[in-house]
Amino acid sequence: MYDVIAFDADDTLWHSEPLYRATEEAFCGLLAGYHDAEAAVEALHQAEMQNIRYFGYGIRMFALSMIEAAIELSGGQIPTRDIQSIIDMAKGMREAPVRLFEHVEDVLASLSQSHTLMVITKGDLIDQEDKIARSGLAGYFTHIEIVSDKTSDVYRALLAKYSIDPRRFLMVGNSLKSDILPVVAIGGHAVFIPYELTWAYEHVTIPDEEDPKQYTELEHIGLLPEHIRQTSDG
Ligand SMILES: [Mg+2]
Repeated sequence: MYDVIAFDADDTLWHSEPLYRATEEAFCGLLAGYHDAEAAVEALHQAEMQNIRYFGYGIRMFALSMIEAAIELSGGQIPTRDIQSIIDMAKGMREAPVRLFEHVEDVLASLSQSHTLMVITKGDLIDQEDKIARSGLAGYFTHIEIVSDKTSDVYRALLAKYSIDPRRFLMVGNSLKSDILPVVAIGGHAVFIPYELTWAYEHVTIPDEEDPKQYTELEHIGLLPEHIRQTSDG
């Protein structure tokens, strides 16, 4: 039933959000002399939402948002050594080990025998390329696409680029907003695998469930091959 199965990367193939949360916590510690953690997180999230359109998604945008929020929270008093600490935190994020989810390697090894596999991810180009290389998974994927955003238009263009019929395309990911709803909107299939943590930006309100859900939800990626077998038999 599917010619191509595409995977999101962050929080679908490997853990990502915990790294951001841990850095956020360190950021709050740095700013503790000025504001409580709640106010610090709020200022940081606001800076992120405003900075996406300037810098896109990923660590660079996050680092610049931390610096901007720190300047604001400290009333311009943040010492330069603390700015350096923030930059060092961002460098630490780039170098953090890639922690794969359980089952990922087996699932990709199995599905790559029968399907063309693809990665579609957003974020900093250098960071995503580096994580894909360090993950040891690159060999399973025929195409790797690092895009600046994941909208229906972006998916439509990618499918056209590789001559993929949306009806024979399956996207797997942890974000309803980026991986599931825009794919369903262009007639593709989607498997939603929620992660325990979701970045504030990725929260969406699901429209009233009058229509039957147009995507499948699985508890973990280990269940994907069985789901694909079942839908292919039908
Ligand atoms: Mg993700």
